[in-house]
Amino acid sequence: STTRTPLMAGNWKMNLNHQEAVVLVQKLAWTLSDKRHDYGLVEVAVLPPFTDIRSVQTLVDGDRLSIKYGAQDISVHPSGAYTGEISGAMLAKLGCSYVTVGHSERRQYHAETDELVSAKAKAALEAGITPIVCVGEGLAIRQEGTHVPYNTSQVVGSLAGLSAEQVAGLVIAYEPVWAIGTGEVATPDDAQEVCAAIRGQLKESYGADVADAVRIQYGGSVKAANVAGIMAQPDIDGCLVGGASLEADEFGGICRFY
Ligand code: PEP
Repeated sequence: STTRTPLMAGNWKMNLNHQEAVVLVQKLAWTLSDKRHDYGLVEVAVLPPFTDIRSVQTLVDGDRLSIKYGAQDISVHPSGAYTGEISGAMLAKLGCSYVTVGHSERRQYHAETDELVSAKAKAALEAGITPIVCVGEGLAIRQEGTHVPYNTSQVVGSLAGLSAEQVAGLVIAYEPVWAIGTGEVATPDDAQEVCAAIRGQLKESYGADVADAVRIQYGGSVKAANVAGIMAQPDIDGCLVGGASLEADEFGGICRFY
């Protein structure tokens, strides 16, 4: 849509130490140095591991880069005896704009449920951080042909308990699990089918204004060479990028999909 600014977010997963993080963000800033993203045509964000965020903050602040950054997970708790967890206030203090919640790898390896994901989205919003709420079907569901209701019900569950106003400010990422890290990108039509259904569900649950405001990303083997067809779809407002976000040229090419 013309009213939703596309968001290209790079999910680094568990890759790059803090020195490598600085090098990649510097290269990315150079690649994007025409600063078109400064003028609202596209928003660019990186999502490094927690241990890199302070270094990215220092670089972005020091060089006044318009690249945004965030985290890959957040605790549902505000503080206290939760060993190993990171709170929304801690992330906000580091200048994080975004946090992914419910990435398929967290759902799979850490048994995250829709209920937990919605609590994490709420914790992010309360800390002033925009959650990128991830949903997506596995291969069996896709082959069975039930991917549309599967995804809309994951959206309903992952947003449970949030107000319409809160939902209007968040981002949803549709990431079919069979397309993540496999090199098998969804076709633009397949991605659009699910993203349109998600927007339809948002309309049903929260009304047309909220549905129009929410940015819906596609994720799964996005590369500079396949991004244009995806971004041409009316209900796709950006991409969540894994592997290709670890290379400045490739991610830069994705950010310049236009
Ligand atoms: C992801 O993990 O969010 C992702 C989309 O990964 P990839 O781009 O590597 O498929």
